Amino acid sequence: MYSGYLRVVEHCADCGLALASNDSADGPAVFLLFIIGGISLPLAFWITAVLDLPGWAFMAIACGLIVGMTLAMLPPAKALVLGLQYRHRPEDFETGDQVG
Ligand SMILES: [Zn+2]
Repeated sequence: MYSGYLRVVEHCADCGLALASNDSADGPAVFLLFIIGGISLPLAFWITAVLDLPGWAFMAIACGLIVGMTLAMLPPAKALVLGLQYRHRPEDFETGDQVG
């Protein structure tokens, strides 16, 4: 479905569905903002309470985890949003019959 990290291919290789014309915009990032934010804050409190880390070590761990989770979850989140768009507004997608 992707030709790069987050670049959606023009058309599905199997059915020809126009994928790139349906932009998910900021939808995946907003989902991840709430999901990762909801995970990170309790995790930060837990790390602070359990481990006696210096500030720089805490920041390094927190930034690494947050950036890592974001980069790992963006492609599946974007795929989910595209799937939901197709599920609820299939008329916005060109089918393989209309391609070419
Ligand atoms: Zn397809």
